[in-house]
Amino acid sequence: MIYMLGAGWASSSSVRGLSLKDYQPVVISPRPYFVFTPLLASTAVGTLEPRTALESVRTIPGAEYWEAAVKSIDFEKKEVHCISGLQNWDPQKSFAVKYDKLGSSLKVIAVGAHTQTFNIPGVREHAYFLKETRDAIKIRRQILRCFEEASLPSTSTERQKQLLHFCIVGGGPTGVEFSAELHDLIHDDLARSFPSLMPFVNISLYDVAPRILSMFDSSLAEYASNHFARQRIEVHTLRTVTRVEEGVLHLKEEDPVKFGMLVWSTGLEMTPLIKELQGVKKDEKAGRIMTDGHLRVLQPAQNEDGVSKVVPDVYAIGDCAVIEGAELPSTAQVASQKGAWLRKRLNLIAKKGLLKNEASTSASKDAELEIGRGFQYHNILTLAYLGSWNAIAQRSEGHGIRGRFAWLLWRGAYMTKTISLRNKIRVPILCRLVLVRALTEQITANKGWLW
Ligand SMILES: Cc1cc2nc3c(=O)[nH]c(=O)nc-3n(C[C@H](O)[C@H](O)[C@H](O)COP(=O)(O)OP(=O)(O)OC[C@H]3O[C@@H](n4cnc5c(N)ncnc54)[C@H](O)[C@@H]3O)c2cc1C
Repeated sequence: MIYMLGAGWASSSSVRGLSLKDYQPVVISPRPYFVFTPLLASTAVGTLEPRTALESVRTIPGAEYWEAAVKSIDFEKKEVHCISGLQNWDPQKSFAVKYDKLGSSLKVIAVGAHTQTFNIPGVREHAYFLKETRDAIKIRRQILRCFEEASLPSTSTERQKQLLHFCIVGGGPTGVEFSAELHDLIHDDLARSFPSLMPFVNISLYDVAPRILSMFDSSLAEYASNHFARQRIEVHTLRTVTRVEEGVLHLKEEDPVKFGMLVWSTGLEMTPLIKELQGVKKDEKAGRIMTDGHLRVLQPAQNEDGVSKVVPDVYAIGDCAVIEGAELPSTAQVASQKGAWLRKRLNLIAKKGLLKNEASTSASKDAELEIGRGFQYHNILTLAYLGSWNAIAQRSEGHGIRGRFAWLLWRGAYMTKTISLRNKIRVPILCRLVLVRALTEQITANKGWLW
């Protein structure tokens, strides 16, 4: 038996392809589907339908699925305590899963993370987040609501300006891509329905850092800022949000800013489950579970030689975990590579008949048993969409591309990475419609294809 806690990027890639003759996977997650997060910004503005970003957990071959959230884990008793929304989160109906009954069952913690708010007052109440498909649907409704209210004859000019001011806090890839998609939606589609409102539209992106997209080379980040400036997306760096009220953003450096919609995307905060988890080592910076290079959860206690012991039978992968001494980005790329690596390791362990030994593992034991080196991350490409069929892509420091070709890579990556055949067909068709329109406009404007 192997219990996968979570049904996101990390869990999906570890469970798909797991040797079913050796393991019986059980996925425990409060939502019955996997979310293809890179498509969320497109679904929030209506370029793609929300269902193109979803895959049912039930489509994972050979996996059992329980729709429940893990409330706590007792490492000493080897128990996972769960509660289900299908039973109205009734504590009387919560259940415990013993994960080491026969000494051969394992557990993988892959519960992801929430959006960080730094406990800034008013953010949870008045901002929109972009983490789930339901968030994307809410955002789409609010954009349309702002335009519809602004178009009423009784709406004052001042109110129109407020309603059509869209603020985004967080200059990472998610905030940048959402700003770009929003710009496309407004200028390509809504401009036709609401031409008289266009002079009032304003998109502002705020970040506390001196520049946006800090994970990219400075030349690519500068290209993004210049591209945004040409599109009249205002980038405000070195800005600290102090408070949010309904329709008003308070900043330390300037006067209060009125908005119609505020989207918040400022990094990750651990879920209550991880925050309250006892008996595991966590990193000081973000409170993530620390693992060794073989993705095994570490105990806070150390051996006499100063090396942390592992928690028997437990792995942690994805945004909720970090490898001790190796700072990797919190991305789907890292999460899915860790999941795939773990799947191969587990299959190898089973193939070599070492499943019973897994509890007593250590790095030296692994070498002895020839089950491979630790996890190695390979950055395939870091991508960000900038709007108007422009993107930036970076493989490693100093190796980046930008413009239309990077956009093709960006769209191509998501076409090939979606899981089901249905979405493999649906996403390219919808994207091709966008591409045809892009090409037509390009030809009409008689511009070059590459930058
Ligand atoms: C809008 C957006 C766009 C992004 N774009 C990109 C991109 O282009 N490229 C990229 O590399 N990364 C991207 N990312 C980051 C990427 O999505 C995350 O790094 C990735 O989802 C992490 O995978 P995970 O499996 O750790 O967590 P998730 O994919 O978030 O999955 C966590 C799972 O755990 C479940 N869960 C939560 N709490 C519990 C609990 N208590 N018990 C049981 N289950 C629980 C959740 O329901 C979910 O199924 C993007 C993120 C967002 C929000």
